[in-house]
Amino acid sequence: MAFNRGGFGKPREMHKAVCSECKQECEVPFKPSGDRPVFCRDCFQKHKKF
Ligand SMILES: [Zn+2]
Repeated sequence: MAFNRGGFGKPREMHKAVCSECKQECEVPFKPSGDRPVFCRDCFQKHKKF
């Protein structure tokens, strides 16, 4: 039995967003909701520790 985490093989819908830290345009796999900061991949790595 393989572990099925759901949605594998399906391309995720990406949403355009602006990184809260470096202000670069990036794409995130979730819908950015104004009340939460959005981070690009680089900045997300930095904030991972939280
Ligand atoms: Zn960034």
